[in-house]
Amino acid sequence: MSMDPCPEVRRPDGTLRAFVEARQLVPDIILPILSRAEDLAHGAPPVPVSLASSATLFFQQPSTRTYLSFAHAAGSLGYHTADLRDMRTTSFEKGESLEDGLRTIAELSELVILRQPNHEALLDFIRTSAALPRPPIVVNAGSGPSEHPTQSLIDVATLHRRGILDPSGGPKKIVFVGDLQRSRTVNSLLDVLLGWRHLTFVFVPIAGLGPSTCRIQALQAMGRTFEVCDDLDEALTNADAVYLQRLQDEYGGGDTQKHEQELESLRLTPARMDLLPPHAVVLHPLPRRREIDPATDHDPRAGWWETVRYGRFVRTALLEALQPESPS
Ligand code: ASP
Repeated sequence: MSMDPCPEVRRPDGTLRAFVEARQLVPDIILPILSRAEDLAHGAPPVPVSLASSATLFFQQPSTRTYLSFAHAAGSLGYHTADLRDMRTTSFEKGESLEDGLRTIAELSELVILRQPNHEALLDFIRTSAALPRPPIVVNAGSGPSEHPTQSLIDVATLHRRGILDPSGGPKKIVFVGDLQRSRTVNSLLDVLLGWRHLTFVFVPIAGLGPSTCRIQALQAMGRTFEVCDDLDEALTNADAVYLQRLQDEYGGGDTQKHEQELESLRLTPARMDLLPPHAVVLHPLPRRREIDPATDHDPRAGWWETVRYGRFVRTALLEALQPESPS
């Protein structure tokens, strides 16, 4: 069963309209999407949207990969796409409220892909847009430090392809490194990975930037094994997967210079890569700063470019699964 953040993520007939939080991604929902993404990556044609449908990408926060892969995914399904990325070119400059701006987008689009700083504002939009004559599909492409569920979906795709999610091979250890507190990709990925009981977690955070209290509580409540550790080299020696994250200093708080210095000491260098078992995989949602030495890009355990490349097909499969309602 999927865990819905509010009833309005579904249409009255029960079909999914809005994809906003990682906890919606239980294995039963994820696995068919990943299987379809694999077909798409091998050349299967996308199933086009049935009517002349419009997709709006509303991105109030910066993006390269998420924006491009969603734009290409929506285009490959036949959506006419338009975007609002530079808020100075919109009526917000004239004092329009976020609510009115979003209502306008909802009135003009069958699909709305949103990246903005406030998760509560996103949930409000899901609720209010449900009452419109033609409620659009809504996809969260990142909501402040809270959630980035489609990044988790593509991270999970790489973990799945590399065998980490297969419970038949026994317990698997995932090491999280860096700014684990303000990272929406870490938050969302932890929520999704709770669905796989054979996984155990090791956190190697920058001091003071460990996983959020609510994620620790969720791990405890689900009876999952985890530890916080300060010896990265030791953690790497028997890791099955590693997830690195940059400093999320755009959200403020703490001493950035000190945090950067500490992250430097956790940098993934070729020598560190060699500590990992041969079957391991390393992920990073990108953009990277200095957390990963680019000299490691060609190591077979490096999974970050594979995640970028494959992410387009995963997002296409997700949008296919969220097809617009047929007109009545
Ligand atoms: N691109 C990811 C995000 O939008 C990771 C990051 O920015 O650090 O959250």
